[in-house]
Amino acid sequence: MGQSPSGETHGAERLAGVAWFQPFSALHNIESQATMNETLKPNIPVLDGEEILAGIRRWVELESPSHDAAAVNRVVDMAASDLTRIGAKLKRTPGRDGFGDVLEAHSPWGDASEKGILILGHLDTVHPIGALATTHKFRREGDKVFGPGIYDMKAGSFMGFYAMQHFVRQGRTTHLPVRIMYIPEEEVGSPTSRALIDAAAKNAKYVLVLEPAREGNKCVTARKGVGRFVMTITGKAAHAGARHEDGRSAIKEAARQILAIEGLTDYAQGITTNVGLITGGSGVNVVPASCVMEIDLRVPTAELAESVTAHILGLKSNDPDCIVEVTGGMNRPPYGKNEGIAKLFEHAKGLAKEIGFDLQDVKLTGGGSDGNFTAAMGIPTLDGLGADGRGPHALDEQIYFSSLVPHAQLLVRLLETLR
Ligand SMILES: [Zn+2]
Repeated sequence: MGQSPSGETHGAERLAGVAWFQPFSALHNIESQATMNETLKPNIPVLDGEEILAGIRRWVELESPSHDAAAVNRVVDMAASDLTRIGAKLKRTPGRDGFGDVLEAHSPWGDASEKGILILGHLDTVHPIGALATTHKFRREGDKVFGPGIYDMKAGSFMGFYAMQHFVRQGRTTHLPVRIMYIPEEEVGSPTSRALIDAAAKNAKYVLVLEPAREGNKCVTARKGVGRFVMTITGKAAHAGARHEDGRSAIKEAARQILAIEGLTDYAQGITTNVGLITGGSGVNVVPASCVMEIDLRVPTAELAESVTAHILGLKSNDPDCIVEVTGGMNRPPYGKNEGIAKLFEHAKGLAKEIGFDLQDVKLTGGGSDGNFTAAMGIPTLDGLGADGRGPHALDEQIYFSSLVPHAQLLVRLLETLR
């Protein structure tokens, strides 16, 4: 359980490798050299922060914006080769609609038909190619490590692999089979992998999501649901000077709709709406005939998801001569901290205490993840188990190096104790 400084861990790992293949005399020699001035170290592989970071760096330096399938697939290739090396059984589903492949890895041990632990991570990031060379150079400043998508969530994704590798190195297995699933387009709502996530979750007793930890190591036990809508308003074009009275302004109608939509925001109830994108009009001297808006909705419960969605879809034009059409709906269902999630969290909290940190949960976050799908299916889901840090999607996106080993340890302990 205790972590050793990195120099020692490398030694211990080499020792472990040697121990399996060398006669006792050779081992004895190495041990006596390694422990001359120290107390005897246990001869087992150790979770090594420097090694974890080196692995994260390899994955981070392959930039992978969601919409660049080839780029995302380069990380998928790397993850696949890492997983193949440790004997995991892989299933790779080719990407579609311009997205990368979905990679599923089954632990080298365990029965494929048995319900197990599903680890979810995504390999895409929101950062464009080139961020690594400009805005998001990989760099380490004290405890902070920067890089595109390092926090959300290459660090967590790599830690899933690293935890599985840890069991292989130890020659140990877990009670439940472990499956890791890497999603290529989580940042755009997982449109092509949702069905695969649902199928994998049906075969899972628990889901562990390696999205970033937050606000000082906190994990996530409840997430709001996310809705997305497109409102199209059609008016009537006319010369803005000569025939103004003949026009019907779609933008004027949009202005009223925006106020109505934004007016649905209710912080006390946890509802937020955001008209985040708007386009419309054809010229400054033309009464605009069209306007299109994109709307983001966040809601904490299934009931609110249903009622607010119905409200937005039912919005009518104020101007009888304009036409308002709304499409869309809930993209990710909300999930609350139900009994199964609370039990899983308490279990993780106990393990974290043994490791030496106090695991808290964020009461409710507005950000969605693939955990929304599995938790809404009723599978106990614990999210935010990845690296701690700050600035997801931001210019200062970073992880805290000091969180890597304790979080990897927590993940290993979860895999080892869940039944
Ligand atoms: Zn993420």
